[in-house]
Amino acid sequence: MLRKLNSYFWLIFLPAHLLLLWSLYKIEFTVLNIFLILFFWTLTSGYGIGVAFHRLLSHKSFKTWYPIEVFISYLGCLAIQGSPIFWVNIHRGYHHPHSDGEKDLHSPVKGKWWAYFIWSITIDYRSIKFDFVNDLLRKKAQRVLHYMYFFVVWLTWIAAYFISPAILFALVIAQIITLHQEFCVNLFCHSGKGYRNFDLPDRSVNRYFFGLLFWGVGYHNNHHARPNSYSFAYAENEFDPTVLLVKSVKKPS
Ligand SMILES: [Zn+2]
Ligand SMILES: [Zn+2]
Repeated sequence: MLRKLNSYFWLIFLPAHLLLLWSLYKIEFTVLNIFLILFFWTLTSGYGIGVAFHRLLSHKSFKTWYPIEVFISYLGCLAIQGSPIFWVNIHRGYHHPHSDGEKDLHSPVKGKWWAYFIWSITIDYRSIKFDFVNDLLRKKAQRVLHYMYFFVVWLTWIAAYFISPAILFALVIAQIITLHQEFCVNLFCHSGKGYRNFDLPDRSVNRYFFGLLFWGVGYHNNHHARPNSYSFAYAENEFDPTVLLVKSVKKPS
């Protein structure tokens, strides 16, 4: 097992969880620190994954200005789920076209713990074809974020610590919440247990509170049915909070 653990495990996943233990030990849950955690969670989970990696880069569901694209791509790196090129490649090339099939890298049909996190720490990068991100590979900033990914995350951790340890603690707590939230989506929103607005061949389901709390991605069956829509809400009672974030950075169409 140890030999199967990849560089992401040793350089990001393990240190982040160790930093979490340190953060939980040291942080005081004052109003300011709770605000900081929510602020960083909005940046990493909302803007980084929800807006940048998922709706903008993976599905091109809206347009924005290039400097904003680069900045929110950097925020996505801070969600500690890999570089934009890695995330988008897996999502576009393996998850959507092969949902819950053999080539889907994180489907719960391969096992609950596999879908939850084991896939991410054991995946052999040499087995992945980076054939689905040619648009991103042409952009210098995206190549930098990809090849310097570990450096970018570590430099941010170190800078945060030197600005104020409380900032590092709040950032790490937000990062771990963001990471496990994404793992929950892989597991619970492809479990077949939830409600469906669309009859699809995969096992994607909507989970109302995951939709509300996890920046819309819990309306997962809606998203698989309409991947190019930046709103993952569909039914009248569904609300996708990421739509508000998209509107804050979207070019008028
Ligand atoms: Zn899915
Ligand atoms: Zn998607």
